[in-house]
Amino acid sequence: MKRNVSLEEISDGRLYGLNDMVKADCHGCEGCSQCCRGMGNSIILDPLDVYHLTKGLGKEFQELIGTAIELNVVDGVILPNLRMTGAEEACLFLNEEGLCSIHAFRPGICRLFPLGRYYENGSFQYFLQTGECTRPHTKIKVSKWIDTPDLPKNQAFLNTWHYLLNQAEELVNGSEEDEFRKNLNLFLLNTFYVTAYDTESDFYGQFEERLARFRQIVPEPC
Ligand code: SF4
Ligand code: SF4
Repeated sequence: MKRNVSLEEISDGRLYGLNDMVKADCHGCEGCSQCCRGMGNSIILDPLDVYHLTKGLGKEFQELIGTAIELNVVDGVILPNLRMTGAEEACLFLNEEGLCSIHAFRPGICRLFPLGRYYENGSFQYFLQTGECTRPHTKIKVSKWIDTPDLPKNQAFLNTWHYLLNQAEELVNGSEEDEFRKNLNLFLLNTFYVTAYDTESDFYGQFEERLARFRQIVPEPC
């Protein structure tokens, strides 16, 4: 989800790489679960998140729709997000102790927080969101904080996915044909989310295969 704010307004004004130290470590949150409540539709899931969720929960994407996941239109494109429920508008995976019950396979946005990604010139860096998490923080290496295996492949996937979504947004928002917008959205949703992943096999290879299929219909922009 794009935010129409300047980096200076929401961050310490710095951009960080994987090897940089950043003041993001909130030491296991120590009983706080603020960012697992009232997040609206902002915890958007990418295909890797859905792979992890379907593998970890042993359920298919469509079984999770309406319970843990909902679909919303983001900048013209239909995407899944974690669903907030109940009087407290809490994530379904927040347990009674205020802990994440799917910590090992939590979505990428949850892994990052309070960091965010800043995309520019075909790649991205990280920024520290200030004012979102009010707990005291200490410094930690970015790569350690995001706690994601296979980082080179992960970074390449995130970049490809971001710019693919950008292209889809431009195509959808640039068209006045409802049928085209609907078909592109359905194609994207089916290709990268609805069609079940083989959770016994590596994600990134499967993503590349799906990307190649997508590119046969929606070529990469020149
Ligand atoms: S707001 Fe900060 S301390 Fe609280 S749950 Fe989120 S990351 Fe943890
Ligand atoms: S998946 Fe876990 S970390 Fe993410 S919002 Fe839900 S409870 Fe919080």
